[in-house]
Amino acid sequence: MAVRLVIIGGGPAGNTAATVAASIGADVTMIERDIVGGAAHLWDCIPSKAMVATGNELTELALAKTMGLEASGRLDVHALRERISGMEAKLSGGVTSLLESQGVRLIRGTGRLTGAYTVAADTDEGTIDLEADAILLSTGSRPRVPDWVAVDGERILTTRQAYPPPEIPDHLVVIGSGVTGVEFTHMFSALGAKVTLIVSRQQVLPYKDPEVAATLEDEFLRRGVKLLKGARAISMGRDSDKVFIACDDGRAVDGSHALLCIGSLPNSEGLGCAEAGVDVDEHGYIPGNRHCQTNLPHIYSAGDVSGRLPLSSVAAMQGRKIAEHVMGLTARAHRHLDYDKAAQAIFTDPEIAEVGVAEAEAFAAGRKLRVTKVPFSANPKALINGDTRGFVKILSDPATGVVLGGAIVGRNAAELISVIAVAVTNHLKVVDIVDSLLVHPALAESLADAAS
Ligand SMILES: Cc1cc2nc3c(=O)[nH]c(=O)nc-3n(C[C@H](O)[C@H](O)[C@H](O)COP(=O)(O)OP(=O)(O)OC[C@H]3O[C@@H](n4cnc5c(N)ncnc54)[C@H](O)[C@@H]3O)c2cc1C
Repeated sequence: MAVRLVIIGGGPAGNTAATVAASIGADVTMIERDIVGGAAHLWDCIPSKAMVATGNELTELALAKTMGLEASGRLDVHALRERISGMEAKLSGGVTSLLESQGVRLIRGTGRLTGAYTVAADTDEGTIDLEADAILLSTGSRPRVPDWVAVDGERILTTRQAYPPPEIPDHLVVIGSGVTGVEFTHMFSALGAKVTLIVSRQQVLPYKDPEVAATLEDEFLRRGVKLLKGARAISMGRDSDKVFIACDDGRAVDGSHALLCIGSLPNSEGLGCAEAGVDVDEHGYIPGNRHCQTNLPHIYSAGDVSGRLPLSSVAAMQGRKIAEHVMGLTARAHRHLDYDKAAQAIFTDPEIAEVGVAEAEAFAAGRKLRVTKVPFSANPKALINGDTRGFVKILSDPATGVVLGGAIVGRNAAELISVIAVAVTNHLKVVDIVDSLLVHPALAESLADAAS
């Protein structure tokens, strides 16, 4: 009899596990209460990047004169909202068709464990009881809202209500300057809003390379973004057309809208973990070992609810590895599941991307590194593009030349970092990049220059 895999939650982790497991012979049932494709499609990666893309187009139009063009643009918020919901429907439809074509049974409803080997799906038509040989918990996360904030979806927003509001805010106050906070700061300022960013430390992106953060801060200031540094928001109120925010250092700021970007909480309540005997940590995450197995080896957790790197790409890779592990393909099952080697990007302008070891941390730990950095101002394609901002940095082992990491700031950084990511994952050496015959003129030539 085929292995019965039941998956609760159809985001990148769940739907990747489902398609891979079904393609190698598992009998897969997936329960999803909202949209197939998950928060990633509905609220996170796709709509946020669609808004960034529109903001970037507007910025490009403003620069068109430097390319010899007469052009101007006016934002149509309604059309932007239509575009985003059209994309969500298309992507979710694509994932659903793929699952169906692989023979995955899709149940629209809310899943919960009722025992170690049993799952219930609560649907509009009643409860469906399922038996499983293996179970995947991939229920994702939701924005964190502190108890002093009354989110109303009108002026006080989480990221889930910001795609975009019916009108671009006159003055948006973004609370939180991690990856999500800086991306929303960038997109709304590019779309024409005045933006104030509340930064609790002394730099945006507190855990990132200070040089990278400084480049982004300069760009924000150039765009007119106000940075309120060293301030932590502690209370918030509103009247009919304004929000008021007080900070712990006595400063206050008001704006037309406020957007919370202060992290997320795992969706593990009501999942029946206690009933099944699955451990949940003190923050609500469901931890797993290197195969993503919880304390019960046949129950896996993946994606944001597992408490690992909260990235769609990581969730999907976990899903793939879990499917292979469930089906006994152990030789391949965890080959790439090395979270330290996950490439990460921040979709600001300029884009920021990193992979592997971080320079500051490595030096602080006394690790020997060779760091080579090349600015895009020396790259012919950057000159042709009319955008020479940023740089490529490659970190390697001085003794062996093995590539250990890299950071890129600049146009297409999220695409270009893939080359360094492949090198880091496969222990390639700087000479392997230098010896590759790359396209000319191309931004990627800066990778070879930085590796030289
Ligand atoms: C604003 C924003 C932008 C982001 N941009 C990026 C990006 O550009 N790139 C990137 O890699 N990552 C990005 N992320 C992170 C990424 O969205 C998440 O890491 C990813 O969605 C996690 O995938 P997942 O499979 O864990 O869960 P999700 O995508 O959260 O999906 C979980 C699914 O489970 C369902 N569910 C929950 N409970 C139940 C239940 N009991 N029964 C049935 N169904 C249930 C939910 O309805 C949901 O569909 C972004 C995050 C945010 C907040």
